[in-house]
Amino acid sequence: MTAAAPDSPDARDHAFLRVCVDLAREALDAGDEPFGSLLVDAEGTILRSDRNRVRGGDATQHPELALARWAAEHLDAEQRRTSVVYTSGEHCPMCSAAHAWVGLGRIVYAASSAQLVGWRAGWGVPPGPVAPLPIATVAPGTPVSGPDPALVDEVRALHARLLGVDDH
Ligand SMILES: [Zn+2]
Repeated sequence: MTAAAPDSPDARDHAFLRVCVDLAREALDAGDEPFGSLLVDAEGTILRSDRNRVRGGDATQHPELALARWAAEHLDAEQRRTSVVYTSGEHCPMCSAAHAWVGLGRIVYAASSAQLVGWRAGWGVPPGPVAPLPIATVAPGTPVSGPDPALVDEVRALHARLLGVDDH
């Protein structure tokens, strides 16, 4: 199955992604990894926000997974289908699968997994334990937009800071 290439976030998307990148910075400042996400309903109301919380040793504490579980518990199927998840970094396969299993709608990300993988490789960081499959491969029915060129450099800088690399 071939999914269409993601389109670009629009101005309204950008405003929500701006919040996600701020949440990612908050996570990094707290000793977690720099990822932040929002669950937004069809009217544009932020229902829930979260950020990465892996510092305690549970590497599955991703905000996108937390939002999917929250949605399954608190929203009906139609509300989930019409909600949008905004996130600073494209969903990993675990979170893409959770998103699709609970029937959430569109995903909009600031930086793609391919970008993150490329940055980390350039910094000499070994690949992680999970294949960096794009959302379109794991959840082919999910509409996807991203990356946001106006935020990519900022996301990159947060990941450089996480790894303590000089990225100037
Ligand atoms: Zn994830």
